[in-house]
Amino acid sequence: MNAPHFVCPFCGLLCDDLPFPGTSGLLQTACPKAAEGWAAIRATGDARVDGVAVAEAAAVRAASAALAKARRPLIGGLAGDVQMMRAALALADRCGARVVHANQAAAQRNLFALQSRGAVATTLAEARQRADLVVVVGGDVTRRFPRIMERLFAPAPVFVDAAQRRLALLGVDALEYAPAGVSAERVDCGGLDLFDAVGALRACCEDRIDARMAPAGLAALAERMQSCRYGLLLWAAGDLDFAGADLLVEQLQQLLQDLNRETRWAALPLAGSGGDLTANAVAAWQTGFALPLEFRDGEVAGDAFPDYSDVDLLLWLAVLPGLTFPDWARDVPVVAIGAPGLAPPGARVFIPAAVPGVEAAGHLVRTDGVVTLYAPAQTASAHPAAATQLERIAAALEPPC
Ligand code: SF4
Repeated sequence: MNAPHFVCPFCGLLCDDLPFPGTSGLLQTACPKAAEGWAAIRATGDARVDGVAVAEAAAVRAASAALAKARRPLIGGLAGDVQMMRAALALADRCGARVVHANQAAAQRNLFALQSRGAVATTLAEARQRADLVVVVGGDVTRRFPRIMERLFAPAPVFVDAAQRRLALLGVDALEYAPAGVSAERVDCGGLDLFDAVGALRACCEDRIDARMAPAGLAALAERMQSCRYGLLLWAAGDLDFAGADLLVEQLQQLLQDLNRETRWAALPLAGSGGDLTANAVAAWQTGFALPLEFRDGEVAGDAFPDYSDVDLLLWLAVLPGLTFPDWARDVPVVAIGAPGLAPPGARVFIPAAVPGVEAAGHLVRTDGVVTLYAPAQTASAHPAAATQLERIAAALEPPC
């Protein structure tokens, strides 16, 4: 029997062209991020309560009891698949919990801009087949998404001459994983910061200023952006970690709209690692709101600026690696469902669960947000999927939680 098709769950690109690594080390040499993710997870681990190994059923009962007692629970982390997120929302509804992804601050940089002025975005496939100018903005996206250039600059694109493709770096010095055969040209912004550089680009593209008044590097880029046939602005919101980043994203989207009057441009805001797009997509499908959410008295509402100072229990979900546990939660009692190897520090209860795409089948939303990929299990698992563990906790809850 053929091995099931492997979908790599270790970043939002969800590459599906590599063989499952097993013990061969193939994936590890193909991608450093995949190697890191692979190294972070373990095949088996004990369920634990107060640091003592227990049967999974006992840990589920302890989790359920803690949740029933909590007055202001928060379900966080959320690094998992569609099925896990659906079960998390059902539990939140039942317990009156708030819900937030660990990467939410980064996700909101794109989300606020979208809500404010709209967005023009494209897919990996369209960008690969059409883009003749790619401009990377604000950070080396290849550190978070090591194979993105390989995915974009594939040989023999259908609608663009491969030799004509260009790559420019705006506010980025260099790429760690540059595409083969395409040189990355750093744009000299003449000392302007990213906000002013994008403002100058917009002014040049709209002919609001004489291009000679802008730094020469930006004026030249504006000219190339106006004359290309299909341009792509590429960023990862996680790299835009500074005040007002949502306003920068809004400016980038406005620049795209300006350019689309004469030629064709789109954005590809990279995301989806640690299940952040998956969690937000499921929240939007099921409630009409993006995260963060608050369930209370049978109602649900979006809560864009939450205050978690009164959280008395954190239910942390992480069956995919790469999350940063929040500093503010270090003194909060934690119940965790996670892949073995991903237990947060000091968790009072830990329930092991299978990794989607490796030990459990699951669905994950890809970085461009238009494809929800089925990631089949590759190996048998010693533990159930996170969704199953959440459903067990819910089943063990005493009413009225
Ligand atoms: S780029 Fe991302 S999805 Fe692709 S192999 Fe690396 S970690 Fe996996």
